[in-house]
Amino acid sequence: MNTNPLILIVEDNPSNMKLTADVLEYEGWKTVRAASAAEATGLLAQKHPDLILMDLNMPGEDGLTFTRRLREDPEFDEIPIIALTALAMVGDSRKALDAGCDGYITKPIDTRTLVARISDFLPNAEYQKGDSSTHNSAWRQP
Ligand code: MN
Repeated sequence: MNTNPLILIVEDNPSNMKLTADVLEYEGWKTVRAASAAEATGLLAQKHPDLILMDLNMPGEDGLTFTRRLREDPEFDEIPIIALTALAMVGDSRKALDAGCDGYITKPIDTRTLVARISDFLPNAEYQKGDSSTHNSAWRQP
């Protein structure tokens, strides 16, 4: 795997999108951004991301339905998918795992731990920049 992973962010909220993408790109990682499942589907025809961050609550096809659809497609069933769930939405984390997500991160995003948490699902990814003291190394233990 590339040590600069390509992350597809599927998120309809522009400020959440910018914050998330900025943190990953600061790390030297690459991002592609989609504001809807339909837009992400178009991108996936051309790009094969190393991991997908999936907002659950989106207009049009929601993140759970989109995740289930990806899991049924042999081309995408191995890509790690991490759900972005609202802290207040009790039960969303369970639903995300049931739909085929590999994990979940609660919003608002904790920018200090985001990269470390995603790295858990990318064994070969490396931190390119940033202050390692801001990362919780426990997340990276096998
Ligand atoms: Mn949303």
